[in-house]
Amino acid sequence: MNNLAAKLSPEQYENNFAEIHPPFSHNSAVAEANRCLYCYDSPCTKACPTHIDIPAFIKKIASGNLLGSAKTILESNWSALTCAKACPVQVLCEGACVYNDKEEPAIQIGRLQRFAIDNYFKSGMPKLFSPKEKNGKSVGVIGSGPAGLACAAELSLLGYKVTIYEANKIPGGLNTWGIAPYKTRQADSLKEVELVKSFGVEIKTEILVGKTISFEKLSKTHDAVFIGIGLGESTNLKIPGEELNGVVNAIDFIEEVKKEKWDSVKVGKRVAVIGAGNTSIDAATESKRLGADEVMILYRRSREEMSAYDFEFELAKNDGVIFHFLTAPKRIIGNSSVEGIECTKMKLGEPDEKGKRKPIEIPGSEFVMPVDMVIKAIGQSAKTKFLNSITGLQVENGRVVVNPDNYQTGNEKVFAGGDCINGGKEVVNAAYDGKMAAHGIDGYLNKTAL
Ligand SMILES: Cc1cc2nc3c(=O)[nH]c(=O)nc-3n(C[C@H](O)[C@H](O)[C@H](O)COP(=O)(O)OP(=O)(O)OC[C@H]3O[C@@H](n4cnc5c(N)ncnc54)[C@H](O)[C@@H]3O)c2cc1C
Repeated sequence: MNNLAAKLSPEQYENNFAEIHPPFSHNSAVAEANRCLYCYDSPCTKACPTHIDIPAFIKKIASGNLLGSAKTILESNWSALTCAKACPVQVLCEGACVYNDKEEPAIQIGRLQRFAIDNYFKSGMPKLFSPKEKNGKSVGVIGSGPAGLACAAELSLLGYKVTIYEANKIPGGLNTWGIAPYKTRQADSLKEVELVKSFGVEIKTEILVGKTISFEKLSKTHDAVFIGIGLGESTNLKIPGEELNGVVNAIDFIEEVKKEKWDSVKVGKRVAVIGAGNTSIDAATESKRLGADEVMILYRRSREEMSAYDFEFELAKNDGVIFHFLTAPKRIIGNSSVEGIECTKMKLGEPDEKGKRKPIEIPGSEFVMPVDMVIKAIGQSAKTKFLNSITGLQVENGRVVVNPDNYQTGNEKVFAGGDCINGGKEVVNAAYDGKMAAHGIDGYLNKTAL
């Protein structure tokens, strides 16, 4: 990258990455809690993938029982702080709030959850849960993202000895390394890691299973194994010029930003982000907040087919990100570094097998845009090489196939959950999978003990 964006002052960076949903004060939390109608059929609880008893935790805030409120939340979700700050609440719990039908603002469930959980961590994580006596069995968990942590926490409380094997130096998965810093910081994720460790879970970092230690060896060491390895690298564009200096993958770029050493992150003056999912939005907004003059998102389909949520789209537009729909990159131009991107205009054809209208190139519509950085954000690949090396594991379209009732894979002592089984959803889905898989493992190990 020849043309780096101008450096900002430390205050400007902090301002640009300030929380988009600030915390409630005590009085405003209680006032908001008292707006809740405590619906008998709680549609919010049904809409939450972890089924937190939302009216119950809100009632406890209203009555001043903040630790009881935190306990209700944590009983369902071990990534409660991250979810409070980063869940797409508009399409989940808050989207289901009955106030939406009454043309009143929905209860701010995310911010209330944060209020209760912030208080829990600020109070020094008082003991709310007591692990059962150790039952002599051990489980190995691969990956310390929300799926692995939830599985480990739950198993530890059930009396198992649990060891998490994590490739990274700092645990927490994408909660630590992916989510935009204006939603959550690394410190939030690490509080959740500490909570899980407080139940006696051991986390061995810098252990890449399949390399540092073989899967077979790990599997022999434990009575059961949970795989929560998430997804892999950003997918390649497969166009000429991809090797040029200044072409980066979204996951690597976002990881750099998560270190919060803002002035050391390399960002161009004119940035093109390829793809229009939630990761593309994050890469684009983060580039803009790091000081890039112009950031554009290039997407080969139209606004309707874009997978990013509406509120993420609005956020990016408010940050000044420019959207070029029906535009596909053909070639990245430059000598050793990126100087421009050649694109072609597209039109939409018939829907494909997934129901998405197929983009078709318009001949002769090529044009070049000057850019000095290209961020690849067209999806993440699966870790198929590692997964395929495990005996009995079935992998379809890059997803580990599990029994939906107990999360067991084709190898009876191996269970899996999170992004590696769903192809990439949200933290809340991974947290639910991990917890349910723990109960699947418990059922399996109790049966084999008979
Ligand atoms: C850029 C980005 C932004 C996102 N923003 C949001 C958001 O705002 N809100 C939201 O709800 N969701 C968001 N998500 C999605 C969410 O982060 C994921 O759905 C969730 O983290 C998946 O959890 P997981 O435990 O399955 O995997 P991960 O969080 O990916 O964790 C997997 C862990 O396994 C480790 N690992 C992998 N292979 C091995 C191995 N062989 N040996 C040992 N360890 C290994 C990895 O190092 C990693 O720590 C975002 C995702 C991305 C990519």
